[in-house]
Parts: sequence; C-alpha cells; structure tokens
Amino acid sequence: MSQLFLFLLLMLVPAAMMLDFRYHSNREMESYLLQVNASNPDIAHLYSIGRSVAGQELWVLALGLSPRRHTVGIPEFKYVANMHGNEVLGRELLLQLVEDLVRGYRGNQSWATQILNSTRVHFLPTMNPDGFDRAGTNCHLSQGRFNHNGVDLNRNFPDAFAGLLGEHDLYNANREAEQVRAVIGWLKMETFVLSANLHGGALVASYAYDNSNGGGELVGQASLTPDDDVFVHLAKVYSHNHASMHQGGRCGDQGPFQEGITNGYQWYPLTGGMQDYNYVWARCLEVTLEVSCCKFPPARQLPALWADNRKSLLAFIRQVHLGVKGRVFDGSGVAVQDAVVEVTGRRNMCPFRTDKHGEFYRLLLPANYTFTVTYPGHEVLTETFFVPYGPERNSALRHDFLLRRVATATGDPTLPSSSSLLLTEGSLGAAMTPTWTLAALVMALTFQNMIS
Ligand SMILES: [Zn+2]
Repeated sequence: MSQLFLFLLLMLVPAAMMLDFRYHSNREMESYLLQVNASNPDIAHLYSIGRSVAGQELWVLALGLSPRRHTVGIPEFKYVANMHGNEVLGRELLLQLVEDLVRGYRGNQSWATQILNSTRVHFLPTMNPDGFDRAGTNCHLSQGRFNHNGVDLNRNFPDAFAGLLGEHDLYNANREAEQVRAVIGWLKMETFVLSANLHGGALVASYAYDNSNGGGELVGQASLTPDDDVFVHLAKVYSHNHASMHQGGRCGDQGPFQEGITNGYQWYPLTGGMQDYNYVWARCLEVTLEVSCCKFPPARQLPALWADNRKSLLAFIRQVHLGVKGRVFDGSGVAVQDAVVEVTGRRNMCPFRTDKHGEFYRLLLPANYTFTVTYPGHEVLTETFFVPYGPERNSALRHDFLLRRVATATGDPTLPSSSSLLLTEGSLGAAMTPTWTLAALVMALTFQNMIS
C-alpha cells in the first residue's frame, strides 16, 4: 500500500522542482540547477564555464532539443545575471524563467515548445557569486557590486575603443578577472547570436555602444553601432513587453528614458563593458537590461517583479530569429570557416565571419539587403534579397551562399585572389579610424598567415 502511494506521489512530482519566490543562496541555486538538469536530461545540460575568485562554479544551464551541443540552423541565445553581486533580481528572474520554460515544455504549451524547439537557450544566473555573498540589501549602495578582488566586472573586458587590436593580448593577457576570462572563453566556445545581461538600479534597456573614442560612431550624444536599428528594436521589444519599462523614468532619479530605452554611451560612457565586447569581438548582439529600480528588492516583491518581466524575457529570446542565417560553401561544396559575410551599409569593426560549422547568423529588420561574401581563392559573391520578420515564424530566413573558385590560367586555386583580399582590407579600413586601419591590417595579416 505504502509503495503504491509512493509510486503515485512520484508520478505527481513535476519534472522541475517547485521554485519559491525568495532569494536563493549560491548553494541553493546550484542544487536547483542540478535538479533541473537531472530531471530533464532530454532538454537540459548543466555545465560550468569556470570558477570565481573564491572558487565557486559559474554554472550555465542550457535548454533546448540538443542541449549538449550546437545544431546547425539552431541559434544560440544567452541570459547573464548578477554580474554586479548586489544587483540580484536577475538571478531569481532567470531561475523562474528556467522553471517556467521546463514546465511549459513538459505541459506541451506552444509558447515553450516553440522556443525550445527552435533555440538553444543558455542561462548564467550568477556571474559574480562571491559579490552576491557579500551583497548589502540597500537599493542604491554598491556593497557586493565588485568581485572578490574588488574588480567591477562590467569595466574589465578588453575595450575596442581603448587600444589596438592585439595590444590586449600582448600586454594584458592576465588583466581580466576570473569571471571575465570565463565569459571570454565561453564566447569562443559557442557562437552566440543574441544575449542580454541583467542588472538593477534602474528600469531601462540599454544598448551598445557603451564607449567611444570620438570617431564616426559618435552621433550627437550617442555612440552608435552599424546595427543601431536592430539594437533599438531589440531594446524596445524588452521595454514594450515589460509592465512599465516603456513608460520611462519610473525610478525617479534615473531617466527619463524615452520608451524605456537608451544608448549606453548617451546614458553614461563606460570602458571595458561586456555588451561592447560581445558585439565587437563575438558578433553577439547584447543588450543590458536594468530590471528593477532597487538593486536588492525586498523578497516579498519577487512575484510582482517576475510578472512584470516574464513576457519581455520570453519575447526577447524570440528575437534571436531576426534576419538571416545559413552557411557558406566553397567551390567543392564544403561549408567553410572564416568566410566574411558583410551587409552593405553595415561596416562592423570585426566583420561577421562564418564559424567552425561554416555558419553565419545576421540579425536584421525586414528589408532588402545586399550581402557580400569573401573567401580566399573564391570569387567575391554579391547577392541581394528580401529578409522577412523571422520571430513570428520561429526562424530567421535560411540562405546559403555557394562560392565559385577563382578560375585563372596560372593561379593556384588554394591561394587567395588579390581582389578578394583587397576588398576585405579596403572595406575594413574605410570604416575605421587610423587605429582601426592598423588593427584591420593585423587581422588581414593573421588571416593570410592562416591560409598560407
Ligand atoms: Zn549593474
């Protein structure tokens, strides 16, 4: 009788643990993630990207149909929270979101199955567990903001505007805090397409750039990326799906922010931020979400704050399907890495390149675009086509580029054609300050060395 009762009880236990609305310690967070991972081996994969200064694991939970590895055509998305140890709402929001998605998926609810069938979603609920352990609960002060060594993690990333490409690697290899190095390694491991970084102390969606060196990116008071239209759209998706962020200026001393969004630099310039690093070096569009006026809101407010943010957290993930995705194939029909895929009118500091799977993802709003694809030994390929709005179909437009080998009487087809190399250098140089022209040269030379 008791065995039957136990069996029935087990049948009723949901796939994910009931998650209560309170602040969870790092240990409790860890056991929750372990439990979700163990109960959902088909859609969950828990991994660590490194350790904090005090030795705490930086756990990431990935959810998706193939949680352990990338699938060609399925974009990688990430949410990062608690980078500043005393900005704590994001931790609990991400845990609630994990719980919500797993339950929704187990309940066969279309909003959850559509997301997990089409996207691999990674959650890093705390980037600064040591800071959290020391965090003060004051709404405005900064006790616990920094890592164990007093480093502000959102000022510690290599900065594209602060120096030459290569300088960082040559002279500052050990400059970054453990957690920053862990995130940089993570960005090299996966090709993330879209990301958000959750903070507290204001209510606004802030987008790149956070910094400027007074070059062409500086437009009025703002430092604008070549993908500014996309960033503004992404920020508005969050603010307008949020209960009140879109109203702007809800925190009294902060703002007002028109429609609840702002260019990072226009709000306040900062060097070494994570969102600029994601965009410039990892070609991952990241938005900084300030999700609560109070950095450490009272626990009793957590249900309401979750309700305020839930819809926007889900809507933002779906924006990973903006634009176009595909692979670049060489003259032999092999998908190739490091093919440059450029969109006319968008001169990125580091051009978008295909990854180790030969894939590219390019977030774009619906319109006609001209794409130029360059790869050594192959003719420059230019194609113009219409890109529809992907999020409503849970997929970006799929478009592969098929390259043709350069045909020359004497040329070695394995060597780059001078025209394709010139175009790469030229298009880089034209968009850059002198600093960047030199950086582009370093890159072009590296690229040459790689293929020779
Ligand atoms: Zn912060």
